[in-house]
Amino acid sequence: MLNVKNLTFSYDKTAVLKNISFKAKHGEHVVIIGESGSGKSTLLKVLYGEYDLNDGHIFWNNEEILGPKYNLVIGYDFMKYVAQEFDLMPFITVAENIGKFLSRFYLEEKEKRTAELLEVVELTQFANIKVKTLSGGQKQRVALARALAKQPEIILLDEPFSHIDNFKKQSLRRSVFRYLKAKNITCIVATHDKEDVLGFADKMIVLNNNEIEVNDLPETLYKNPKTPLIASFFGEFNIINDNIIYSNQLKVVEHSSLKATVKTSYFKGHYYLIEAILNDKPVFLEHHQTLKEGALVYLSVE
Ligand code: ADP
Ligand code: MG
Repeated sequence: MLNVKNLTFSYDKTAVLKNISFKAKHGEHVVIIGESGSGKSTLLKVLYGEYDLNDGHIFWNNEEILGPKYNLVIGYDFMKYVAQEFDLMPFITVAENIGKFLSRFYLEEKEKRTAELLEVVELTQFANIKVKTLSGGQKQRVALARALAKQPEIILLDEPFSHIDNFKKQSLRRSVFRYLKAKNITCIVATHDKEDVLGFADKMIVLNNNEIEVNDLPETLYKNPKTPLIASFFGEFNIINDNIIYSNQLKVVEHSSLKATVKTSYFKGHYYLIEAILNDKPVFLEHHQTLKEGALVYLSVE
């Protein structure tokens, strides 16, 4: 398993990561979330051995992951990393990029593997197209497939679907995460997208102020968000009487002690997000229909 022990790291004087400890078992899917600049990408790079730690240790099974001071070549065979900025070979085809590090001596095997991965990232019809002509999202999918080519034991993914449009994103996400689970590949994903977490992650780690704020099951954190930062990751919420209340937990009722004035209704598909004013402060709730601006409503927490 991956075992991160008291890791501290800084690029210069101030620590970007402080005292980080967590574990990930074989096949486990761990998501790292945090605001932009909270150190998600740095953590993945450090796990990959791109930098030397100021303090602490990282182990994969019994092998310590070491930085450039101790390693001539960065990276290990058992671990792959897909950066936010992926570097592919632009002048060769999609299939050639994916198979680049597979041995030519087993041509049949190489072709089979490349075809399998093209399917996982849903790029089969682009196999023979030069990478330079692809969109950002398509390139991101090639980078994913290439990282999987030699079947790592653990993969580090930095915002893996960030460049991919919404038409493709849902099915691609299912395909990739299903594949990783089926192959028992440990997966550490840095993201700010809740869709990368809910339904897929076994554990969710929240980075805040350079430290791990919480490390728990996504369901536990969703149902009982201890801080506004955690709640904000899952959606629109309010703080009412010091409690965090998601917009879908606030209902319009006949009568209650919470009297609000409707400001705006936003169409959201299967519901409307209503912005109202309660005690001079905005609150958000979900409702099945629009409400008129200026209307008085009574609210209740479900
Ligand atoms: P995230 O991925 O969560 O947005 P990063 O890990 O990219 O956060 O950045 C964390 C902090 O480290 C930021 O303050 C960023 O400016 C700083 N940082 C990132 N890369 C470097 C670098 N190569 N040199 C110096 N500082 C960096
Ligand atoms: Mg980042």
